[in-house]
Formats: sequence, C-alpha cells, structure tokens
Amino acid sequence: MTFAATILTLYPEMFPGPLGVSLAGRALADGKWSITPVQIRDFATDKHRTVDDTPAGGGAGMVLKADVLASAIDHARRHSPDAPVLAMTPRGKPITQARVRELAAGPGVTILCGRFEGFDERIFEGRDVEEVSVGDIVLSGGEPAALMLLDACIRLLPGVMGAASSGAEESFEDGLLEYPHYTRPVEWEGRTIPEVLRSGDHAKIAAWRKQRAEEDTRLRRPDLWERHVGARDQSASGARHRTKDLGS
Ligand code: SAH
Repeated sequence: MTFAATILTLYPEMFPGPLGVSLAGRALADGKWSITPVQIRDFATDKHRTVDDTPAGGGAGMVLKADVLASAIDHARRHSPDAPVLAMTPRGKPITQARVRELAAGPGVTILCGRFEGFDERIFEGRDVEEVSVGDIVLSGGEPAALMLLDACIRLLPGVMGAASSGAEESFEDGLLEYPHYTRPVEWEGRTIPEVLRSGDHAKIAAWRKQRAEEDTRLRRPDLWERHVGARDQSASGARHRTKDLGS
C-alpha cells in the first residue's frame, strides 16, 4: 500500500522539496509513498482568484477564507476519502511521535498549510480537521511544518529504513530521549568514548544506555520525564491490581 500525501498549499512548488532527496526521495521513487500538492488558489471563485481577506476586528495581515479552504478540503476528501485532514497551526495540538506512528500506519494524510495570519476559525467548525502544531515557534507558512510531519511519517513506512533500524529505540518511542552515541576515533581532542561502550559486554552496555536515557531525559526534558514516571508507576500499580485480582 502506498502512503498518499495530499498537500493543500499556496506554494505547491515547495513539494516534494527536501523530501525528494535521500531516504524519503528514494522511497518516493520506489512508490512507497506519493505526494499530490494542490493549489488552494484553484478553489477561489472570483476573477482575481482571491484566497484571503482582512481580519475581522482589524489588525495586521490577511486571513485565509473559510469558503475557499472548504472547497480545497472537500476536493482532497473526494481524492483521499480515508486520509485524516491535518491543518498546520501554532494553535494546534503539539505533534508527538505516537501520533506520527498512527498516521504512518494509515492510508496517508491531507495537510492544510496556512500562510499570512492563518485560517478563518470557522473552517475548524465546518470541517473535520485536526489542528496540529510542530512546536512553540512561529513559521512563515505551514509548508515547512508539513515537510517535517511527512518526513517523520515516511521514515516509518515499511521498507524505508533498513531492517536493522526499526526506529524502536529512537527518542520518544518509550517516552524517553535516546542515549548518546559515539564512533571512532576512540580518542578525539583528548576525549575518549565511554569505556563501557568498548567493553563488548552487551548487558552492561544496555544498562548504561538505559541509565543515560533516563538521566538525560530527567535533566533535559523534565516534562517528558514526569510523564514517563507517571506512566511507569501507573502500569506498575495496574500490574499489582491484576495480581491481586488473580489471587482473590
Ligand atoms: N497568526 C498565527 C501565525 C500564522 S503563521 C498565530 O499567531 O497563531 C502562518 C502559518 O504558518 C500558519 O497558518 C501555519 O500554517 C504555519 N505555522 C506557523 N507556525 C507553525 C507551527 N508552530 N506549527 C504548525 N504550523 C505553523
């Protein structure tokens, strides 16, 4: 099955862009995924092909019109009826690796890219659209956000990464950052690779990696650490309850 991406954008020429190169580019050439950029302006109804208008209530910038966006979304739904529609916006729910995994396991995705001040809010009431943010930063448009989201999905598609790297050990897969990596030379500017990684003792290496993943997550991302510890404690207490149930 091919993962089909439809991109609703004012700049279709930005796609596949960087996704036409390297891992994603090879997968695209091999037919493991496909991309259809759709020009939002094609759904404008006036002779000037207007897609935006001034913000109600005043203020700087322009707002993408709900009627034009709805026509573009409806077109994409006819084209890919089963793909979820995601709108890129800093007001959306922050994207997670778990959501990326779900998307990559599905038929594909339709991504709506904003520009200017963003979307007329009524589009989110009138259409089934998931609002997604790629982080607490403001981009000039949704296109780089769409490229980022697609890149994360594509590398998870079957056969895109080598069999050896299933992605299961990466950062966020178990709610932790990944442990740090090293490679030759063993000594660089007086700094050596941690001894344990050169010991050949696989159990010791695994223990070191787990400990570093936990320590680094706790220090660098207290938000992730808190969630990880919460989930761990909860599943441990769930296990205790289950044991009790069995005993009674
Ligand atoms: N006025 C908006 C920002 C608009 S930026 C606000 O303050 O919320 C223009 C477009 O860039 C947005 O419509 C969105 O599609 C995209 N964009 C900007 N930052 C983003 C982010 N963090 N995540 C996803 N999309 C983003």
